[in-house]
Amino acid sequence: MGRVATVNQIIPFSCVDGPGSRLVIFLQGCNFNCKNCHNPYTIDMCDSCGDCVATCPASALSLTHNEQGKAKVVWDSELCTQCDICLSTCPRQSSPKTSQYSVPQMLERIRKQVHFINGITVSGGEATLQLPFIIELFKAIKSSADLAHLSCMIDSNGYTSESGWQQVMPYLDGAMIDLKSWQEHTHRYITGRDNHRVFGSLKLLAEQNKLYEIRLLYIPKISDIDTEVNAIAGYLTRLPASVRVKLNAFQHHGVTGEARQWETCSEEQMLELATRLTERGVANLVLPNVYL
Ligand code: SF4
Ligand code: SF4
Repeated sequence: MGRVATVNQIIPFSCVDGPGSRLVIFLQGCNFNCKNCHNPYTIDMCDSCGDCVATCPASALSLTHNEQGKAKVVWDSELCTQCDICLSTCPRQSSPKTSQYSVPQMLERIRKQVHFINGITVSGGEATLQLPFIIELFKAIKSSADLAHLSCMIDSNGYTSESGWQQVMPYLDGAMIDLKSWQEHTHRYITGRDNHRVFGSLKLLAEQNKLYEIRLLYIPKISDIDTEVNAIAGYLTRLPASVRVKLNAFQHHGVTGEARQWETCSEEQMLELATRLTERGVANLVLPNVYL
């Protein structure tokens, strides 16, 4: 039996998750607990507690039990109206609307899109929590005559160990890595984790010429970019010139909890930050298209 992934969503076309047009696979589950998360229902794995079943107005959810009496929530995508009541009911940060994909099933899904895409990106949640599936998938793509031209990329929070990256590296064309804060204590405050391994991942991927993009998050009055701009700019200018530096402006869309009270980042603030970085020698900046 091959690897199976728990998938939250598959988007057939995206132009913002790596180069060109890409099919994007969002895996369920994350090892960060970011206060600013726009998709908090992708953080935890569903434990089939059943709390959401009765709240579904479309009867798209049910509970089944296996021979040992273990419960499992079942989602009927045909009946689902995407009202998202189940997401707001869930006491965890999870969703009953996930699907299980084996590698052959995912290859079949990709083949439906193959004439319209340049590659695939695995995102999340945190993609690398299901790294064995990703490795098996990328390997299969690279060894399939009709798919081998597709680039294989990972969008990650950078918390994977060096040995994890080394295992996927032979099949990886590039990675997009979030750097959510410069100082460890700010990073821990925003994400619940330190950023040591994030810097380790950035270093390793840059050395192996696999770092496609670094993503900087700017939350006014929360981020330390303002006070650390010289250190951050110095770091960015030492990365390979090919690395894109994407600036992400904090917005409230999808956010829950205390971060709803945080100030959002305006276009003016973003442009001012871009100017400060450019003045300090940072090139290859990519700014947000929308501020919603
Ligand atoms: S989004 Fe959730 S609650 Fe709404 S119809 Fe679908 S399964 Fe039911
Ligand atoms: S999605 Fe949440 S509420 Fe629904 S069964 Fe899973 S853990 Fe329980």
